[in-house]
This record gives sequence, C-alpha cells and structure tokens, in this order.
Amino acid sequence: MERSQNPRTPRGRRVRFVDTAPHDYSRSRPDVHPLQRDLDSAHWRAERLQGTVDELARQRSDLLINRTKLCKTLHNYKWQIDRLEGLLKLRENEFKTEFKKSYQTISSFEAQVSSLQKQLQSKNEELEKIQLLRKQENEEMTARLESEKNKVQESAVLQNDLQQKLKMMEQQLLQKDKQIMDLQSNNHDLSHKLTEASAEFQSNNAWQTKYNALQEKFTEEMATKQQSCEATKEQLVQEKKKVEELQLKMKNEKTEKDKKDQEMKNKDKQEIDRLSQKLTETTSELSSCRVEFLQSYKAWQGEYNALEKKFKEQLIQKQQDSEKTSKLVEEEKKSLLQKEEDTERSQTERVTSNEGTVVTSGIQTEEEEKKKGFLSCIHKKKSELQHVPRELFAVDPAHSSSSEVSYRCRKCRRTLFRDSSILSHPVGEGALAFSHKKSRNLTGDVQCTSYFIEPVQWMEQSLLGVMDGQLLCPKCSSKLGSFNWCGDQCSCGRWVTPAFQLHRNRVDEIRQLNIQK
Ligand SMILES: [Zn+2]
Ligand SMILES: [Zn+2]
Repeated sequence: MERSQNPRTPRGRRVRFVDTAPHDYSRSRPDVHPLQRDLDSAHWRAERLQGTVDELARQRSDLLINRTKLCKTLHNYKWQIDRLEGLLKLRENEFKTEFKKSYQTISSFEAQVSSLQKQLQSKNEELEKIQLLRKQENEEMTARLESEKNKVQESAVLQNDLQQKLKMMEQQLLQKDKQIMDLQSNNHDLSHKLTEASAEFQSNNAWQTKYNALQEKFTEEMATKQQSCEATKEQLVQEKKKVEELQLKMKNEKTEKDKKDQEMKNKDKQEIDRLSQKLTETTSELSSCRVEFLQSYKAWQGEYNALEKKFKEQLIQKQQDSEKTSKLVEEEKKSLLQKEEDTERSQTERVTSNEGTVVTSGIQTEEEEKKKGFLSCIHKKKSELQHVPRELFAVDPAHSSSSEVSYRCRKCRRTLFRDSSILSHPVGEGALAFSHKKSRNLTGDVQCTSYFIEPVQWMEQSLLGVMDGQLLCPKCSSKLGSFNWCGDQCSCGRWVTPAFQLHRNRVDEIRQLNIQK
C-alpha cells in the first residue's frame, strides 16, 4: 500500500503548485520566471517518462498473454503424449490378441497332430492284429499240410499193400497157369492115350461118346476157369489204374496247396509293405507340418518384436520432442520472467528518479526471494506433474496440533491450512493494473479477496496430472477456491504463479486465546 500511495501524493501537490504559482510569485519576485520554465520542462519530462512506463506496462501484459499461450501449448503437448501412450497401449493389446489367436491356431494344429498320431497308433495296433491273424492262419495251414502229408504217407502204405497183393495175385495166376499147363499136358497125354485107345478100341463107339462127353466137359471147365482168371486180371488192372489216379490226385492237391500258400504269403507281404509305406508317409507329413508350424510361429514372433521396437522408438522420439519443446517453453518463460523483472526494475528506477525515495520493507524482499525459489522449484517439476513429490506439500494441519493461527472450512469446521502456509504477494494496483488511462481517477483501498497458499497434503489427489482445476473441502467437498500451475491473477491485479487460492469468505481464521496469562 505504501508503494502504490507514495507516488500519487507528491504529484497532487505538484499540480496544486503549478496552478497557484504564476499569480503569487511572478509579481512578488523577478527570478520566478526562469524557475517556472525549469518546472515546466521537468513536468514535460515526467509526462514523457510516464508514457514510456505505460508502453512498458503494455509490453508486460503482452508478455503475460504469451506466457499463458505457451502454458496452453505445453498442456496440449502433454495431452498429445497421453493420447499417444493410449494409442500405444491399444496397439499392444491388438498385438496381444493377434498373438493369442496365432497361439490358439498353433495349439489346435498341435491337437490335430496328436489326434493323427493317435490314429497312427490305432492303425499300427490293427496292423499287429492282422499280422497275428495271418500268423495263426499260416500255422493252421501248416498243420493241415502236415496232416495231409500224413494221409499221403498212409495212402502210400496202402499202395504198397495193394502192390504186394497184386504180386501175390500174379503169383497165384502164375501158379494157376502152371496148373493149366499141367492139365493141358495131362489132357495131351490123355488124348494120346485116347487115340491109342481109339486105335485099340475103334469099334467101341460107347467109349468114343463117353470120351467126347468128357472132352466137352473138360473144355467147358477150362473155358470157365480161363474166363474167371481173365476177370480177376482185369479187376487187378482196374485197381492199379485207380491207385495211379489217386496218386495223381494227391500230387495235384499238393501242388495246389503249395501255390495257395505262396499266394497267401505274397499277399501278406504286399499288405505289410503297403502299411509300412503309409506309416512312413504319414510320419514324414507330420514332421513337415510341425516344421511349418514352427516357422510360422517364429515369423509371428519376429513381426511382433519388430513392431514393438518400432513403437518404442517412435514413443521415445516423441517424448524427446515434447521434452525439447517443454525445455524451449521453460527457457522462454525464464526469459519472459527476466524481462518482467527488468521492466519492474526499470519502473522502480524511474520512480526513484522521480521521487528519490522508495519504501521497501525487509520482510517483503525476504518473502519474494522465498517465493521465487519456490517458483523455480515448481517450474522444474512441472514437466513431471504425474509425480509431484510429497515434500512439496505442506503437512495437513488436521492431522497435527499446533498453537499457530489456523484456517478452517466455514461450512464443516475442518482445519485446512496454517498461517505459515500463506504465500503473501505485494498488493497490485487493482483495476488500474491492466487499464491505466481509463480508471486513473479511481482511488481507494484494494483488497485481496483470496488467500494464496502453498499446496497442502489434502490437495494431492486433485492436483495429480492436471494443470488447473477447483479446490474442494476434503470433508464436505464444498467449493473453496481454485488452482493453476501456470498462475492466476489476484483480485488486487497481481499475477501469482503457481496459484493455489482459497476465497476469504469460505474460510474462517482461528486464533487461540491464552486465558492463563
Ligand atoms: Zn468443509
Ligand atoms: Zn492480491
């Protein structure tokens, strides 16, 4: 208040002096005229300086506007980074789903492979069963062959018997032939005797008739005997033929059976070869399928890794770009702050040149230095709003007792902050701060309608990751004020950075009275 009121009073006095001076002093003293001229020139110089001051103030307001714009662009970059991170997460999820799909297809193919292997095993088992059946059939066939061989041997024995019988019959035949020969010789002898007797007994016809009858009987007997012999001969020949036919049949059967056995063996061999070929083919197909699946799986993995790398690189580049831009913005801010300080210094210098004296209390400079340190700290931390360190926040007064002056929520009486948390600022020029010419005539005290404080622990949740917003009571959540990391304008016109302001009419000041003293 002292700084803002001081420059006004001497100017008023000066104006009064200028209005009254010519009438009183020009007539009484002769050396008043040059003094008046000096005064006018000084007055003109003061006006010109005031004009430059106004221009500088305008430049300062422009710079402030630029600063807010830069804050907005920074905010935009933050938002873009968030959006890119979201996109990256989406892409990662898509790749995960694709990877899962490929994994499922691979697992299904593996399941098919296992089912094919099972089928192969079942076929192998069937083959083994068929081979066992073939072996059994072979054994049965060999048993039959042996039995038939035994039969053939038996038939050979029978043949031998028949041949022996035949020989016996032939011998009997020969004996009978000999008997017939003997009988014929006897007959010849008898015929000789008869002829002799006939010669002796020609006259005797009776003997002759008897002899004829005997001769006829004998010839008849001979014929019958010869016929029976021939019949037996024919029978023997027929039996011989039958035996030979039987032997031929046996031989034919033997050859047929051998042929059948060979055919069966060939068929078995062919079937076994066919099945073994199928086995080898299916195993080779399975191995090739496996190799293909492995290759496709590797290719998928390679693509996934390449895409991951690409996205990581892009993200890193974008982060670096945003960091660079934020650094540039910070540098610009610093330069702006320096310019502001320079303008303030030049202002104060000009004011001092005008008036000669400026009152500045030691406490205010100390507080300003403290605030600047805090500001620089906050500016550094701004780039990492997601992780505001806990040391930045003042201890929540609701969780600790102290005799210090404290401030409570007017609605629910919750303790919000202590007197030491208030960051005081030099009072601005009120409505004059940004419109000098229009409201220069207005006078009166300017009041700050809100407390600017350092951030307290109960604000932590609402501050994370946001540039500005409302401040609500942690207990009854009634609106207490607002915050902005880029700063805000107080009702007195002063710009405060960063701004954590609570309205004075939402908060009650509590002073503890010491009754004991
Ligand atoms: Zn409350
Ligand atoms: Zn203020």
